[in-house]
Amino acid sequence: MRGYCGKILEVDLTNKTCREYKIKDEVYENLLSGASLGAWWCSRRIPAGADPLGPENVLCITSGTLTSTGSVITGRWMAVTKSPATGGIGEANCGGTFAPYIKACGYDLIAFVGKSETPVYLYCDNNGPVIKDASHIWGKDTAVAEQMLIDENTVEGKKKPAACVIGPGGEKLSWMAGICNDNGRIAARQGVGAVMGSKMLKGIVLAGTKSVSGYNPAEIKKYSKISASRINAVMLPPEVPAGLLHLGKILPELQMSPDGIFTAVLMGTWGTGGASSFAAQTGEAPIKNWGGSQKEDFSAWKCNKVDGSQMLRLQTNRYYCYSCVYGCGGEIDISKIKHNDQGYKKVHKPEYESQWDFTGFLLNTDNDAMLFINEYCNRMGIDTISTGGAVGMAIEAYENGLLSKEDFGGLEMTWGNADSIIKFVKMIANREGIGDTFADGCKKATEILGPEFGKYGVQGGGTEPPMHDSRPDPQQALHYAFDATPSRHTSGGSLYYGCMHLWKKVSWAPPAVLIGSKEGEWKNYDEESLKVLANQYYKRLADAAGGCYFGFITGVANYPLFEWLSAATGWDRTPDDWMVVGHRITTMRQLFNIKHGIDPWSFRPHGRMIGEPPLKVGKVAGKTVPIDPMLRAAWKNAGWNEETGVPTQETIEKLGLDRLLNAPLEEFVYG
Ligand code: SF4
Repeated sequence: MRGYCGKILEVDLTNKTCREYKIKDEVYENLLSGASLGAWWCSRRIPAGADPLGPENVLCITSGTLTSTGSVITGRWMAVTKSPATGGIGEANCGGTFAPYIKACGYDLIAFVGKSETPVYLYCDNNGPVIKDASHIWGKDTAVAEQMLIDENTVEGKKKPAACVIGPGGEKLSWMAGICNDNGRIAARQGVGAVMGSKMLKGIVLAGTKSVSGYNPAEIKKYSKISASRINAVMLPPEVPAGLLHLGKILPELQMSPDGIFTAVLMGTWGTGGASSFAAQTGEAPIKNWGGSQKEDFSAWKCNKVDGSQMLRLQTNRYYCYSCVYGCGGEIDISKIKHNDQGYKKVHKPEYESQWDFTGFLLNTDNDAMLFINEYCNRMGIDTISTGGAVGMAIEAYENGLLSKEDFGGLEMTWGNADSIIKFVKMIANREGIGDTFADGCKKATEILGPEFGKYGVQGGGTEPPMHDSRPDPQQALHYAFDATPSRHTSGGSLYYGCMHLWKKVSWAPPAVLIGSKEGEWKNYDEESLKVLANQYYKRLADAAGGCYFGFITGVANYPLFEWLSAATGWDRTPDDWMVVGHRITTMRQLFNIKHGIDPWSFRPHGRMIGEPPLKVGKVAGKTVPIDPMLRAAWKNAGWNEETGVPTQETIEKLGLDRLLNAPLEEFVYG
C-alpha cells in the first residue's frame, strides 16, 4: 500500500443507498488524500450554486495519507463541504482517535449526499455500511449522543467502535456548528456541522479493523523515531511552575522567532491555553472585540488572572490524540466550578482560542465562566471562536445603543458580565430570542440587523477570526484573506512560518527574520507573499496527510513531513516536488470558490482585523496592514490573476487541474 486505501464511499441519504468508488492512483499522485481528496470530491460532485444546506451539497469525512502508517502526530480527520458561512469550500479538522477508523473501514473518504427525512446515523465495519435510525439520539448533546452510539454498537470481545456526532447546534442548522468526537473534540469551523444537520445525519460510527500501511514502513518508522525523540527531549516535567511560561514574553521583545521545537516545550507542558497571557502582552491576542487594548482595557494584572495556565490546577491528566507523542491536550475536572448548572465533570481543557475568546476578548475575568462556556459549546456542538465573535458583536451593539436590554430578553449585555455572557451563549446555541439572529455568525447577523451593525461584526469572508491579531502580523492578515477557507489561524502567520524553517528544504521559500526587527519584512510584498504561499502549500500537504499543526510548527527537521510522504507513497519526490502538490491543492480550492460565485476580494478582512482605522493605543497602535498590494502579490506569485484572484488558464493547465476537475469522472474511477 501507499498510505491510502484507494476507495471512496458515497452515501446517498435521500435514497438510502451506498456506492463504493475505486479511485485511480492518478488522483492520489496529484492530490494525496485527506482534505485535498475531500476538496476534489466536492469540486467534482457539488453543482455550481448548490445550497450548502440543501440535498445537493456533499459532506466529506476523510483521513490523511499518513494516518495509520506509523508516522507520528498525523492522526487528524477532516470535514470538507460547501460552507453555509462562506459560500465557498468549507473545511474543519479535528484530533482525538476517530481518524484511523475511517481507513480501518477501507476508505480514504466517506461522502454524504442527499438528505434523509428522519434522523439517521451511518454504521460501517468490515462488512460495509448500514444506515440506521437515530431518532432516539436526536436532540442529545454531543457527549451523550457519542457515548450512546458507541455503547449500542459495541460487540463483546470486539474492538470498540469510534463515533463522531453533531449536537443540537448542528441539528438547528447553526452556521457555527461543528462535528464532535472523543467527548468534546470538535471539527468546529465554517458550519460543517450545519451541513451534517441539514442531511439529518446525527452521527457516524466506524468499527472497521482493516490494516493500512505505507510503501516503506521501516523508513516511516525511522523518521518517527527521530521526531519522537526530538520532541520528547524538550518536554518539561509536570512540576514546572506555570510562571516560567512568562519568560516566553521576552522573545518578542528581543524580536526573536523561536526555533519550532520550542513550541513543543510550550504546548506539551501547558497546552495552547498556556499562551494567553503571553499573547495578550505581545499584541497577538485581540481585546474587546478587536476594539480595545491591554493598555486601556485589560491590564497585565487582569491577564494574569485569566491566563490559560491557571486551568492547569484542574487538570487530571494530559491528553494525546491518536499517534501523538506530544500531548498538548489535557483533561480537567470542572465539577466544582461556578456556573456549572449542567453537572459537567471531566472534560477537555479549553484551547487558547476558547480560553481567550471568553476572557480577554470580552473583558471577562471570571475563569469559571470561560471553562463552563467552553464545555457548553462543545456539548451543543458549536464553534467557540465564532460564538465568542458573535457575543462580542452583541455586546458592542448593546453598549452603543443599537440593541436594548429588552432585545436581549432582559440581559444586561455589558463587557465582562459573565452571567449575561453565559445566558446569551445558551440563547445562541438554542436559537432562542435574539440568539437566533446571531446563531449564523456576524456576517448573517449584520445582514439581518442592518449595515450599522457591521462595524461590530468582525469577520472575514463569513468566518469570525480567531484570537490572533493580524494588525501586528501582516502575514497573518494575508493568510486570512488569501485562504479559500478564510480567517483561519491554522492557515499560518509569521510566528508559525518562523518556526517551520521551510527555507531549509524548499528552494524558493524565503527565510524568516529570526532575530532583529521584522519591520522590513512586510514592506517587501513579493517576498512576504512567497512566505505566505510556502506556508499555505505546506499546510495543504499537512491536511492531505492528516498532520497536526502543532507537529509541523516544530520545524521541518523535527517533523519530517516530506520524508514521511515519500516513504509512505514510495514516490521519489523532493520537497520542491511536494510543494507543487500543495500549490495544486491550493489552486483547486480557489477554483471551487470561483465556480460557486465567490469574488476573492470579498474575503478581504474586516477593517478592525487590518487596522482600518488603526488603534490609537496599545501594542498594535498605529498599525494598518497594506492588505491590497500584499494580496495582489500573493495571487500573482500563485499564478493567479493579480487583479481578480482567479487562477490563470496557464496555471490550471500546468498543474493538471483542467483534467482533474473537468475530465469525465469515469476516467478516475474503476471497478
Ligand atoms: S499536538 Fe495536541 S492537537 Fe496535535 S495531535 Fe497531539 S494532542 Fe492532538
